[in-house]
Amino acid sequence: MVKVDLDHVYKKYDNASDYSVTDFNLHINDHEFIVFVGPSGCGKSTTLRMIAGLEEISKGTLKIGGKVMNDVAPKDRQIAMVFQNYALYPHMSVYDNMAFGLKLRHYSKEDIDKKVKNAAEVLGLAHLLDRKPAALSGGQRQRVALGRAIVRDAPIFLMDEPLSNLDAKLRVSMRAEIAKLHQDLKTTTIYVTHDQTEAMTLADRIVVLKDGKIQQVGSPLEVYNKP
Ligand code: ADP
Ligand code: ADP
Repeated sequence: MVKVDLDHVYKKYDNASDYSVTDFNLHINDHEFIVFVGPSGCGKSTTLRMIAGLEEISKGTLKIGGKVMNDVAPKDRQIAMVFQNYALYPHMSVYDNMAFGLKLRHYSKEDIDKKVKNAAEVLGLAHLLDRKPAALSGGQRQRVALGRAIVRDAPIFLMDEPLSNLDAKLRVSMRAEIAKLHQDLKTTTIYVTHDQTEAMTLADRIVVLKDGKIQQVGSPLEVYNKP
């Protein structure tokens, strides 16, 4: 149901002389798990941000569920995004951090309460709803960031290096949680990482980027199991 189509998408920042993303052409299937890999500066975040509507597309077409989205506001894109730095509000409780996006969208109090408590249950945060982010561990903070995405019921998850601030052990367990969320919630997920193991274990297809261009698209086996 929710495909994401990038048709010959280009991005040139206003102050830049060159394109940061060139002829990005990719058709993502419903419920697919796509991972973007490539060196720093190759255009991973820019592409994710164009899909989210946080950056304008210079040329080309973005379609979500078959509809052209180029000029649709971020809040109307049915997308939930999770960032590397969690992007939690430090002065708000865990509950309010998760409720915030729903309040903005004028959900009812009862609806918000149900969604937040349900997400907290799923993520093992039910006993931490009154805490402030400063009183949480790194893994708990990242769970809150995931909770903010879950409560939105968005069919598309965008994740920009969500685990790179965590220690190695926690990365492995959170990786499994993300895989499970993708399965349980049936989302279409686009995930940026530097970590080859993450890419191999999570991806249906890996997109290898270099200098703003797609170099290769394939299954983990095709991309990493070179002869
Ligand atoms: P990645 O996420 O793969 O590290 P980015 O998408 O952040 O790469 O960056 C791609 C290119 O676009 C880089 O050359 C970067 O310097 C440039 N870039 C990113 N953001 C901006 C911006 N706001 N203004 C100008 N250039 C930018
Ligand atoms: P959600 O909180 O559910 O992820 P949004 O991503 O739409 O919802 O964010 C809601 C609002 O909060 C938007 O106006 C967005 O710009 C703003 N916002 C999100 N994260 C931060 C942050 N870390 N700091 C400041 N404002 C933020």
